[in-house]
Amino acid sequence: MVCLLLLGPPGAGKGTQGQLVASRLSIPPISTGDTFRAHVAAGTPLGLSARGYLEAGDLVPDAVTCAMLSERLTEPDTAAGFLLDGFPRTTAQAEALQGILAERGHELTRVIELQVGAAELVERLSARRVVIDGQSLQRSDDTPDTIRHRLEVYQRETVPLSDWYGSLGLLSRVDASGDVDEVTARILDSFSRNGAGVD
Ligand code: ADP
Repeated sequence: MVCLLLLGPPGAGKGTQGQLVASRLSIPPISTGDTFRAHVAAGTPLGLSARGYLEAGDLVPDAVTCAMLSERLTEPDTAAGFLLDGFPRTTAQAEALQGILAERGHELTRVIELQVGAAELVERLSARRVVIDGQSLQRSDDTPDTIRHRLEVYQRETVPLSDWYGSLGLLSRVDASGDVDEVTARILDSFSRNGAGVD
């Protein structure tokens, strides 16, 4: 059972690296941001209530996010493990995750924090294009004001989690600047160096 968690600010590459690392480990990547965006696009009740938060770069309330994640983790593809990208983002979410894992007799294997300098983050996010319905578009929350706000929210709500996971001896910090493949190799390397076999 591999329970991996990717921490890092917006623009650090959690989505890209989450997909690559999860595929290498044959576990599903679970992105709360992608899940919310899918609900918004499909116009589900969850999407309708989450939409305003996403557009403003604010966090969706913990109760909504935790319920969605908890349900996702009951799906059979998570039986051998999973990689979380974008969850937890608050202390309340981290505590909820500990509860969900404990209920199932699981523990976190490792928390990987992707580190990128502030200037590179803003540059990456401003330049980012995503493919939606076959079109290359800018995400509605990748505008300068919203990027600044998301980085502030990250500092305030999520940075304390890295200290907490560090104090539990679960945290590996990885330099996430530069080439995508090199960053993937650094993540897999730090993961296997900490006693969790990759193959
Ligand atoms: P980024 O890391 O670039 O901000 P994400 O795709 O992870 O992008 O998240 C986009 C948005 O989805 C967030 O700004 C927030 O509104 C919502 N979101 C994602 N994960 C969470 C979470 N764990 N708790 C609350 N809101 C979340």
